[in-house]
Amino acid sequence: MKWALIGASDIASTRVIPALRLAGQEVLGVMSSNAERAEHYAASHDLLGHSDQLDELLSWPIDAVYISTTNELHASQAIAAAASGKHILCEKPLSIDLAQGAQMVAQAKAHGVVLGTNHHIRASGVHEKIREIVGGGELGDIYLARVNHAVGLSERLRGWRLSGEAQGAGVVWDIVVHNVDTLRADLRSDVVEVTALSATGELARSGIEDLTNCTFRFANGVIATTCESYLVPFSRTSLEIHGSLGSLVAMDVMRQDPIGDITITNATGRHDVVVDDRENLYVKTIRRFEQACYGIGEPFSTGADGLAAATCATGVLISARERRTVALSELTSA
Ligand code: NDP
Repeated sequence: MKWALIGASDIASTRVIPALRLAGQEVLGVMSSNAERAEHYAASHDLLGHSDQLDELLSWPIDAVYISTTNELHASQAIAAAASGKHILCEKPLSIDLAQGAQMVAQAKAHGVVLGTNHHIRASGVHEKIREIVGGGELGDIYLARVNHAVGLSERLRGWRLSGEAQGAGVVWDIVVHNVDTLRADLRSDVVEVTALSATGELARSGIEDLTNCTFRFANGVIATTCESYLVPFSRTSLEIHGSLGSLVAMDVMRQDPIGDITITNATGRHDVVVDDRENLYVKTIRRFEQACYGIGEPFSTGADGLAAATCATGVLISARERRTVALSELTSA
């Protein structure tokens, strides 16, 4: 397929342009809000087209757009792309405004285009294996899950994430959404309520969450906790799932690369699980998205999945700020 990039971003440079090319896609050009930056970005990534106008980009002979602007822009850009008949792979969070997120999903449906959310983690072979194990009943009845996704924020990403309130700064919009998306996929259930604590550590501007600990109740009864941070560079990410017949511990699995290991402990002892699929998460995401554009299946994470994760993030923010448990039905019926 032919693509254009909305947003001259770091993630497009470092991960998505290479992945698009590895997946056999053609990247025609890029849009930035700044014409000079668009031209420079296009030249440095070997792209023919560049523009500072969304309308112009949408008039190019493209099938799909990849949106990786700052979070507050995703909705309006996706809605314009849908109206011009382009399929949309949008970065997470799908939208920091739930009404606009719902509009994105509705407009994609109305215009018959595919909307996917780039929650790349659920595309990992390790998580596909976890879903196979959970779905196969090997762990018995699942009661508890726990995600550690506390990291150190790279120097090069210490811009709007730490100070841009209007852009959806902080770990909730950045990391909680990934954790919730992965848990929803791996546990095959939706979140019904959330209780969260948050803090501003040493990096972010006052009032912007860069430390969170969240507890989610899922519709199937599982209670899951997640922790997120920008402040701990030496932490190993992990996912644990505990059931009546076994406990699964997966280390280094909330990552951008296809790494990580799974161990299961049950009545017969402790066993390492073999994971054969170590393919690039972004390439898999793009390939699955392309198939969906051809009418085969759905993206790994759909627009509705992105909206569900954004709804949980909103619940986390309200819970932490108002110090109360938030039922997600409060947000979806609003
Ligand atoms: P960047 O800060 O690199 O890019 C966001 C926007 O900032 C760009 O669209 C660009 O605006 C502007 N910008 C970037 N660099 C400069 C610069 N040097 N000078 C001026 N403006 C600049 O953000 P990220 O790539 O980190 O994140 C973009 C989106 O991708 C976010 O929604 C984020 O949540 C998501 N993301 C997803 C990841 C994943 O693995 N799924 C990982 C990282 C981010 P313009 O286009 O107008 O030039």
